[in-house]
Amino acid sequence: MTPPPASSSFRPRVLTGDTPTGRLHLGHYVGSIENRLRLQADYDCYFLLANMHAFTTRADKPDDIRRDTLEIVKDWIACGIDPERSTVVLQTEVPAIAELTWFFAMLVPFNRVMRNPTLKTEIDSKGLGDTYSFGFPMYAVGQCADILAFRPVYVPVGEDQVAHIEMCREVARRFDQLYCAVDSHAEDADYEKQGGVFPIPEALVGKVGRLVGIDGKQKMSKSLNNAIFLSDSAKEIKKKVGQIFTGRQSMTEKGDINNALFEYVRIFIKDEARVKELERAYAAGDNIGDGHVKQEVAQAIDELIGPIRERRAALEGKDGDKKIIEIIRHGTKRANKVAEETLAMAKDAMQLGFGGRNEMLPG
Ligand code: ATP
Ligand code: MG
Repeated sequence: MTPPPASSSFRPRVLTGDTPTGRLHLGHYVGSIENRLRLQADYDCYFLLANMHAFTTRADKPDDIRRDTLEIVKDWIACGIDPERSTVVLQTEVPAIAELTWFFAMLVPFNRVMRNPTLKTEIDSKGLGDTYSFGFPMYAVGQCADILAFRPVYVPVGEDQVAHIEMCREVARRFDQLYCAVDSHAEDADYEKQGGVFPIPEALVGKVGRLVGIDGKQKMSKSLNNAIFLSDSAKEIKKKVGQIFTGRQSMTEKGDINNALFEYVRIFIKDEARVKELERAYAAGDNIGDGHVKQEVAQAIDELIGPIRERRAALEGKDGDKKIIEIIRHGTKRANKVAEETLAMAKDAMQLGFGGRNEMLPG
């Protein structure tokens, strides 16, 4: 879905984020980044580095989490996210998020969290078995706080996140009804008008809600070893596209244009007429090899990623890291202003307001 432009000079807020469990890949680009780039012109955008959540599956890898946190911001900037217009937020330095997580955890039944289909899929696909940390399912509640701390109207995400956003909407409604006397029959659009602290945010799913990985089965994912990263070289792209399994034996065998390879053809080859011709020839087994189709797909992906890779190169090395840390610090300071305001509003509504926090902190 394409986001509508904001109507007045007031820029409504947007929040989304990525977990630093690896670099960004093509799935992020088509699922969420493209929408973020569109939104940042008209909306006050907050892009969160969910580094706390990275610990839910990688508590033993703090070095990796730190590295990936910086790498993701490099990917964002290289894609065109402008840190002057949009705010980069480091989750672990926004204490209001952690506090809101606790309050929200009291508003969702435990079984509701555990029934969340995205969590279930992740437990399966990441092989977490039954030994995952207590913090793992807790991240779903934490994500409600990530979002609601910024009281956004939109959350640009891939399809797998829609279940999470639905839970976040339920939490926002519950909070507003319980503590702000919003009528339980109110329309979602009226919650703030009726005195609710939280708006009911909407998920905005990108033009491709779920890009399949090069394994042709699971969604492309940082942690599943099936991703083409935005920082991959032309050679790596070619190698990875070459691995897409089709099971087709010869150039004259009638091919299935609903396979993963053709999903990539339709998403990444921009020339519509060429896409139609490839589909026709492949379906008819008209002398077209998988190798040839893969070559065209790899080239199209390289055309998309090439400029991103170039902009990224300027951010490599120690100086690049320094610049990125500066962007994170600057953004997080701005973010804390909004998040603290939200927390104070929430605490007031919950009758927990006893004067400002600053007055109770030493020094
Ligand atoms: P992990 O494997 O650690 O869960 P991930 O690849 O799923 O990583 P996230 O950080 O969980 O990435 O997701 C960031 C955003 O990108 C979310 O909005 C998510 O919905 C979207 N996204 C992730 N993978 C895809 C995909 N394959 N297709 C479309 N959108 C995606
Ligand atoms: Mg994920």
